[in-house]
Amino acid sequence: MSSRTAEHARQPSQRLLLKRFAMALGSYALVILLVLLAYALGLYQADGPALALNLLLLLLSQLVFLCLYLSGINQRLCDPSLTEAQVLVALAWLSLFLWHVPTARGALLGIYPLVMLFGAFQLRPWVFARCAALAWLLFAGMNGWDAYHLQLDSAPQALLQTAVLGVLLLWLSLFAVYVQDLRRRMMRRRSALLAHRDTLRGMMQQLEELAATDELTGLYNRRHFLQLAERALLTLQPGQRLGLALIDLDHFKRINDQHGHAAGDRALQAFAAVARVCLRDHDILARYGGEEFVLLLPECDAERLTACCERLRLAFSQAEPLEQPVQGLSLSAGMALLGPGDDLDRALHAADQALYRAKHEGRNRCLAAWTAGHVD
Ligand code: GH3
Ligand code: MG
Ligand code: MG
Repeated sequence: MSSRTAEHARQPSQRLLLKRFAMALGSYALVILLVLLAYALGLYQADGPALALNLLLLLLSQLVFLCLYLSGINQRLCDPSLTEAQVLVALAWLSLFLWHVPTARGALLGIYPLVMLFGAFQLRPWVFARCAALAWLLFAGMNGWDAYHLQLDSAPQALLQTAVLGVLLLWLSLFAVYVQDLRRRMMRRRSALLAHRDTLRGMMQQLEELAATDELTGLYNRRHFLQLAERALLTLQPGQRLGLALIDLDHFKRINDQHGHAAGDRALQAFAAVARVCLRDHDILARYGGEEFVLLLPECDAERLTACCERLRLAFSQAEPLEQPVQGLSLSAGMALLGPGDDLDRALHAADQALYRAKHEGRNRCLAAWTAGHVD
């Protein structure tokens, strides 16, 4: 099997069609047993080569179907299942067989409904009715021909058989209408369910985002930050470091007092906006609480962490959150580094200590936990 053929066969819809095709082949095998039985009982009124030709025709037709499925050509046709074509081939082949068994035709007429059942779940009702009508015409034609030309004694019997087949096929046509209606309703219900599922997924995603986001700044909140940081710490490879910084806006109370609480809010939003510009996509910044923020930088070292915090400090000092100028916008930061196996709480505590020192030493600076001195 070439790789493209194998690929076609692997597609879910193709796999299903091949399964159905295998079922059809199984059914043919059973009917062939009946053909051979009829031949063995002397009911088959043709010689061995004619029977062999009959079986060869069947084999060839099924090979054509198999090639169409395996090559994927069927996907380009309006009905990739090729159900109607399969039913028509089966009806033609069956009629050819029954043509040669005039005396046992009545006993074997039940095979027509069997063939039609194959199409009941797939064919549209009017296509099904068309095939059923063809089956009946083929059977009636054979019986009529025999009755007329062979002057059959059993003409009433042949008539009755034709009538029985007519009733069976009519019933099956109505059954096909019912099945198709059921199928349509199930499909509608399925698409409604899928739509509900998509809506629910969307809502879940929105809820998750809401639960992870700080409303005022749009940054992650503390809870989500801690989850992300724990996860980053767990996946840290030997030799890798995470940079952690606790950032606190300086004299923030003054901004609130001088310009009002709304202005304070805008200053917090300004810090978030400034930070977004300064940081890379995979850096994690969250509002830790009040006017305090926490930053986590993956694949970091002391130099990079310091440079990043300094960049933030400088950018925030130049921010213009309000219409009127705000004097002395600044921040202080405490920095720590984390390696594989380190404890997040301990690192946060160390960063907090460094932040405390930064405040104590006059604010507007970034101090590291790994050194007691200034880094700016
Ligand atoms: P320090 O330099 O020592 O950090 O001084 P500070 O004034 O920034 O710190 P302090 O803890 O004394 O005050 C923090 C202020 O931040 C008090 C609080 O009202 C204000 N704050 C906290 N959350 C918000 C908020 O969501 N919006 C506004 N506008 N203010 C907030
Ligand atoms: Mg503060
Ligand atoms: Mg504070």
